Amino acid sequence: MNEFEQRVQKVARYVCCFFLLISVIAMMVDSSPKQVASSPGPVVYDLTKKIATHSAKKYARRELSEITTLVLHHSAHPSMDVYDIANFHVCEDYLQKEGAPGIAYHFIIDFEGRIVQTNSLDRISWHVSQNNDYTLGICVLGNFKKKKLPKKQQKGLNQLIELLKGKFPNLLIKKHSDFKRTACPSYEYKIADQH
Ligand SMILES: [Zn+2]
Repeated sequence: MNEFEQRVQKVARYVCCFFLLISVIAMMVDSSPKQVASSPGPVVYDLTKKIATHSAKKYARRELSEITTLVLHHSAHPSMDVYDIANFHVCEDYLQKEGAPGIAYHFIIDFEGRIVQTNSLDRISWHVSQNNDYTLGICVLGNFKKKKLPKKQQKGLNQLIELLKGKFPNLLIKKHSDFKRTACPSYEYKIADQH
C-alpha cells in the first residue's frame, strides 16, 4: 500500500465513523419518548351551519359577557336526532307561528354521548322562555322520564360542562325545571362526577 492509498483509507475510515455517529444519534433521537401533546379536550362537532335554520327569522345576538347560566334540557323523545329537532323547531310552529329562527339549544349531547354545537354562543336562542338573554341551553337526546341517563351521555355532558366552565368560570348550572313546572330535563346532573 503506497502513501496515497493509506491516505484514502484513512479518509474512508473518518467518513465511516462520521456516518456511524450520525446514525447512532438518529437512532437515539428516534427512540427518545415522543412528546405527548397537551390534552386537547373533548371533541365538539360543529353543526351550526349544517342544521336547518329559518329562512327569514334570525336569533338576536348578545355579548358573551352576558352569559351567566347554563340550562339543562332533554329532548323528551326516544329517537329524534339533532337534524330532526332543528327541523321541528324551525318548521313546526314551535313556540311561534311558522317556527323559531333556529334550533332552541346551543349544544346537544347525542345518543352516543358526543358533544354537538348547534348555535353560536352569542345567539339568544329560545329554550327557556323569559330567561334566554343570559343563558346557554344544553339538550341531551332521549326521554329521561322513561330511562336513566346512560353513562356515555353523562360523560359527554360532564365534559361539555367542564369545557364551558373553562370559558365562563362563574357559570351557574340550572335545570329547565328550575324556571317553570316541567319534567325537563328529568335526569339528575351529577356535579360530583365532574371532579
Ligand atoms: Zn327543557
